[in-house]
Amino acid sequence: MAMAMAELGSALSSSNLSVSSPSSFSSPPSNYRAASIAFSGEFFFRAVPLHKAGESQLVGDSKRTKGGRRQVPVCRASGLLELVPPHVNKKLNYELLMFDTVKRKAVDLVVVGAGPAGLAVAQRVSKLGVNVCVVDPAPQSVWPNNYGVWVDEFEDLDLLDCLDYTWASALIYLDDVKKKTLERPYGRVNRTRLKSKMLEACIANGVQFHQSKVKDVNHKLSKSSVTCEDGTSIEAAVVLDATGHSRRLVKYDKPFNPGYQIAYGIVAEVDSHPFDVDKMLFMDWRDSHLEGDKQLKEGNLKLPTFLYAMPFSANHIFLEETSLVARPGVPMDVIQKRMELRLKHLGIHVRSIEEDEHCVIPMGGVLPVIPQRVLGIGGTAGMVHPSTGYMVARTLAAAPTLADSVVQRLGGSPSSHVPSRPEAPQSSTPSQRLEAPSDEDVSSPNGDELAAGVWADLWPLKRQQQRAFFCFGMDVLLKLDLVGTRRFFDAFFDLDPHHWQGFLSSRLYFMELIGFGLSLFKHATNHARAEIVAIGTVPLARLILEIAQMKLPKGQSK
Ligand SMILES: Cc1cc2nc3c(=O)[nH]c(=O)nc-3n(C[C@H](O)[C@H](O)[C@H](O)COP(=O)(O)OP(=O)(O)OC[C@H]3O[C@@H](n4cnc5c(N)ncnc54)[C@H](O)[C@@H]3O)c2cc1C
Repeated sequence: MAMAMAELGSALSSSNLSVSSPSSFSSPPSNYRAASIAFSGEFFFRAVPLHKAGESQLVGDSKRTKGGRRQVPVCRASGLLELVPPHVNKKLNYELLMFDTVKRKAVDLVVVGAGPAGLAVAQRVSKLGVNVCVVDPAPQSVWPNNYGVWVDEFEDLDLLDCLDYTWASALIYLDDVKKKTLERPYGRVNRTRLKSKMLEACIANGVQFHQSKVKDVNHKLSKSSVTCEDGTSIEAAVVLDATGHSRRLVKYDKPFNPGYQIAYGIVAEVDSHPFDVDKMLFMDWRDSHLEGDKQLKEGNLKLPTFLYAMPFSANHIFLEETSLVARPGVPMDVIQKRMELRLKHLGIHVRSIEEDEHCVIPMGGVLPVIPQRVLGIGGTAGMVHPSTGYMVARTLAAAPTLADSVVQRLGGSPSSHVPSRPEAPQSSTPSQRLEAPSDEDVSSPNGDELAAGVWADLWPLKRQQQRAFFCFGMDVLLKLDLVGTRRFFDAFFDLDPHHWQGFLSSRLYFMELIGFGLSLFKHATNHARAEIVAIGTVPLARLILEIAQMKLPKGQSK
């Protein structure tokens, strides 16, 4: 293994790569929540009406009145999911500048999707004087996911004010005997505050919004046009796909073959819980709660799940049973059943559930075609960490790179701060040039060249190599059973913090990652080493080949 790592290092000097795939899973209807389930390598959304989320075979006798409405839920250990409240779509209340569908003035950039990725780019680009329109079916909705991040990551982004809870350290239970404390503060993102902050910046910078879904995009030499489901078309010099895991516009030219992180989470009021409120529970791999159920226990030995928890107080907690990565994904109802048994075993009596989340994160898999005319960021563009499922901090850090590259290539200067557009319009912005009907306007940047340059800035060779290494990590994790997973994390969290923290936060680049791999090997027990060699050799060979074939992206200088 050590030799292979060294070979990998030498392969770096002559690198090359190509990537991506057609979307193999379809989006669920918008008023439905994606409830996971992957079988035989294919991924299906099982549509679960939001107000009945979690109602499945594991809930026994759901109590209903004649009209079919739920009665006030009664808390029983075996009926946890009955406590899921009706889904309330929380909304912000801003006066947004709406896109004028009558005048339909062209813009410089259309951002498709108002998730963290899309808004992060929109706020930055608009601050630099670029004319932006954000299209989203619900631009004012509070994001549904409970995001957790390492505090230092948000500190680097100057977003500490967007964390509502922080914990001084994180705890890992490897089994009933062994636990580890990670001295690295962790935080829960206040998603209302983060989205409000981004929306306020967008409003101040004159960003326009259009409430609809984009269904298509067409390109000419120097302009593109997106078509929305409501029939509106919006013309722009550049189009950015930030539609998350629905991957609406970016193209893939290879089969999309990710692993899946599947998790079921609840924000709950509980009578009590056994966790220290100063520590978040990063991973609890204990399995004694499954003793009484042979089938679940054996299933967990092969495809393990762990508990992740953020205790807000003695009675208020976020609990999430998580399958780190599996292909196909662990069925959601199995995860929910394991979670119920775990909570019962831990003596956690849930009084009420404020909200629940069905988490389905495609991990790894191929990258989109690089370059291509539509730009991509966030979930749609392969930015989820393939070995962990984390993405928010990485994407928020990548947004300025993409934004500055767009601005520069549109003829602006990322370093020159232009206040808000109304006061300081540029003499000839691309959108103004687009209003001239001719595509042959020599002053307009060529769309393909512009996009190629931005893709090169977003996915330079070192980022592609880094991601290939993380996919290798995912390939190893996919093959580990519960015992192997415990051994792996035992060695992983024994590493120097520079290595494990750098790995988790995408801060290590290729040569450092090789050092990380060698160090991990050194820290592993003999048994774990033998296991890594047995299961890691083929993925490592694939990694070496991939790295050896990587090319500098078009437009990237050394
Ligand atoms: C339940 C869950 C929990 C997660 N927890 C964490 C975590 O704790 N930490 C972490 O780092 N990562 C986490 N992730 C992973 C990742 O950070 C999130 O998926 C993140 O929300 C992705 O951001 P995004 O902006 O790329 O996409 P999204 O947040 O999915 O936003 C996409 C936006 O695009 C819109 N859209 C979709 N299709 C169209 C269309 N055709 N036209 C217009 N708009 C469209 C959607 O309405 C949405 O507003 C989690 C993911 C999930 C699913």
